[in-house]
Amino acid sequence: MAAAPAVGIDLGTTYSCVGICQHGKVEIIANDQGNRTTPSYVAFTATERLVGDPAKSQAALNPHNTVFDAKRLLGRRFEEPGVQADMKHWPFRVVNEEGKLKVRVSHKGKERDFYPEEISAMVLAKMRQTAEAYLGRPVTQAVITVPAYFNDAQRRATIDAGTIAGLHVLKILNEPTAAAIAYGLETGSAGGEARHVLVFDLGGGTFDVSVLRVEDGIFEVRATAGDTHLGGEDFDSRLVEYLLQEFRRKHKEDLSQDKKALQRLRSACERAKRTLSSGTTAALSIDSLYKGLDFHTTLTRARFEDLCSDLFQDTLKPLQRALQDARLTTDQIHAVVLVGGSTRIPKVQALLCGFFSGREPSKGINPDEAVAYGAAVQAAVLTGHRTQGLQNLLLLDVTPLSLGIDTVGGVMATVIRRNSPVPTKETMDFTTAEDDQDTVVFEVYEGERPLSKNNHLLGTFFLRGLPPAPRGKPVVEVTFSIDANSVLTVSARDTHTGNTSQLTVADTRGRLDREEVQRMVREAEECKAQDRAQQEAVEAMNSLESCTLQLKRAAEGGHGVDVRAKKRVLALCKETASWLEGSPLAQKEEYEERQRELEAAWDSAFPTLNPGGEPRLEPEEQEGLSSAPSPSGASQGTYSSPP
Ligand code: AMP
Repeated sequence: MAAAPAVGIDLGTTYSCVGICQHGKVEIIANDQGNRTTPSYVAFTATERLVGDPAKSQAALNPHNTVFDAKRLLGRRFEEPGVQADMKHWPFRVVNEEGKLKVRVSHKGKERDFYPEEISAMVLAKMRQTAEAYLGRPVTQAVITVPAYFNDAQRRATIDAGTIAGLHVLKILNEPTAAAIAYGLETGSAGGEARHVLVFDLGGGTFDVSVLRVEDGIFEVRATAGDTHLGGEDFDSRLVEYLLQEFRRKHKEDLSQDKKALQRLRSACERAKRTLSSGTTAALSIDSLYKGLDFHTTLTRARFEDLCSDLFQDTLKPLQRALQDARLTTDQIHAVVLVGGSTRIPKVQALLCGFFSGREPSKGINPDEAVAYGAAVQAAVLTGHRTQGLQNLLLLDVTPLSLGIDTVGGVMATVIRRNSPVPTKETMDFTTAEDDQDTVVFEVYEGERPLSKNNHLLGTFFLRGLPPAPRGKPVVEVTFSIDANSVLTVSARDTHTGNTSQLTVADTRGRLDREEVQRMVREAEECKAQDRAQQEAVEAMNSLESCTLQLKRAAEGGHGVDVRAKKRVLALCKETASWLEGSPLAQKEEYEERQRELEAAWDSAFPTLNPGGEPRLEPEEQEGLSSAPSPSGASQGTYSSPP
C-alpha cells in the first residue's frame, strides 16, 4: 500500500486548517464536526481532554482550563513584555519555570503543567487525525506553516510540536509564502511575464504583508512586513472593552474580574464581529452573564469600525514598508490577495482598496484556507508527488534583516543582505587585526546600521589556534548559511590549518520578533546621516592607523636612505600612534589631516621611494580579504587597524 501523502497544516493562532494535495488537486479536510477550520483550543476537564470545536464551545464554562493562543507562547520566554501583556487577557494561567513558560491547568482533578509545544502538539494531532479519518490511512509527514517573522526559537518550537504530535515536519513554511503558492496555482503564471503579488494576511492574531515576484511557477518573496500582534482578537478585545463599559453603565456592575463571564462576553463579541462583516447590525444576547444579570445589546458596523479604526489604519504602515523594501509602487503590484479570516471585514477591504487607488483585491481562494492549501501543495512537492502544474514550483523566502560580523572599529561587515532569498549561503574572507594573533572573535549581528553596536548581537564564537603570522596574512573564511527553515549557521575556517569553528544561531535566544525588526529598520533609516559620519570617522581612523604602521615598517626597513629623514618619519609615526591611542573618538577630518601630514613627511623624506615597493598608501589588502574581526575580547588586548 502506498504511503499516505504528506499533509499541509496551517497551525493558526486562533484556527488551524489541514489540507492534502492528491492528483494535483488540493482538498481542505473538514473535521469531525464538519468544519474546515478547527479552533486552536485545548480544554482539560475533570474527565477528559478536548481539542478543537468542543474545547472552544465549553470555554465559557471552563475558562481556567481552556487553553488557546498557544502559538503566542511558542518559543517565547516568560519575562518577554509581549508575553506579559498577553497574559493579562487570558483566563488560563501561565507559569514561569526558570524563564520557560508553562500553562497550568487542572486535569482529572490534578494540577498539571504543559509546555506550549505540548498544547500545539495536541492541536496538530487533532489535524492529523482529521486527515487520517479522511484518507483512511496513517499520516506521518507534514508541512507546517508559521508567520514569516517567527524567529528561530519559535520555528524550532513548532517543529518540536510537530514531532510530539508524531509528525515528521518536512518543512516549516512561511504563511504568506504558502498563501502565494495557493494563489499562484489558482491564477497560473506559466509562460507569462513576471508579476508582483501582494499578500495581505490578517488572521486572528498576526498580520503579514508580503510582496512576491511570481514568474513561471517560481515564487520569490521580495519583502515582508507586518505586526505579530494585530488581528481579529484585537478587534474582539475592543468590543469586549466597549461592552464592559456598557454593562457597567447599564447595571452598575464590573464583570472584568469574572473570568468566566469575560470569556462568554468575548465569544459573543467574536460572533457579533463576524455578523458585522455581512450585516450592518449584530444583536448580542447573553443570559445571566454576571450576578444573574442578562445582557442584551446591539452593535452596529459603524460602531465596530469606529472602535477599531486605529487598528485598521495600522495595517497600512506595514503595507507601505513592504512596498518600499521591494522598491515597488502600488501600480507595479499586479494582484493583491487576501488571506486570513479578518480580511472579510468590509472596512479592512475598503482601506486596502483605497490604498491601491480603487483596485479590488483578488478573493479567489477562501481566505481561511489559503495557507493550508499552499502548505498541502508544498508537502506534495517535497514528497515527490509532483504534477504538471507543480513541477516548476520553487520557493524563496527572505531574510528580514542583514546579517554580518563585527570588524575592527565596530563596523559591521554585512555578509547576507536584508531581504536575501533563503535558503542562502555566503562566504567572505577575513583576516587578523594584529601580529601573531592566535584567536579571532566573531560577533554575529543582525541589523541595518553600519556600526555593530547599534545592531542586535546574535552570538559570539571563537576561532582559536591560528599559527603566528603578521596581521593581515591569515585568511579566515567565514560562511553564513541559512537553511530552508531560516535557521542561521555561521562558520569560520582558517584556510591555512583547516581549523573550523561555528555558531548556530538557533541555539541563542536572542533573535528578534517582528516589532523589533521593524523598529531596527526604521531607526536605521532615521539615523542614516549620523551613522554615515561615524562610519567615515572609523574608516579614516583605520586608514590613518594603517598608514602609520605601513610607513613605520617601510622607514625601518629602508636601507641606504637618509638617516635623519628616516628618524623624522619614525618620530612622526610614533607621535601619530600615541595620538591615535588617546583619540578613539576624533572627527574624520582630524584623522585625514594627520594622514596628510604623515604622507607629506614621507614625501619630503623619501621623494623617490614607495614604502615597501607597494603602491604607497593603499591599504595592504590581500585579494578578496575583507577586514579583520574586532580583536576585542580575544587574546590581543590592543586596538589595531584592519589590513
Ligand atoms: P484565521 O486565523 O485566518 O482563521 O482568522 C481567524 C480570525 O478571523 C478570527 O479572529 C476570526 O474572528 C476572524 N474572522 C473569521 N471570519 C470572520 C468574518 N466573517 N468577519 C470578521 N472576522 C472574521
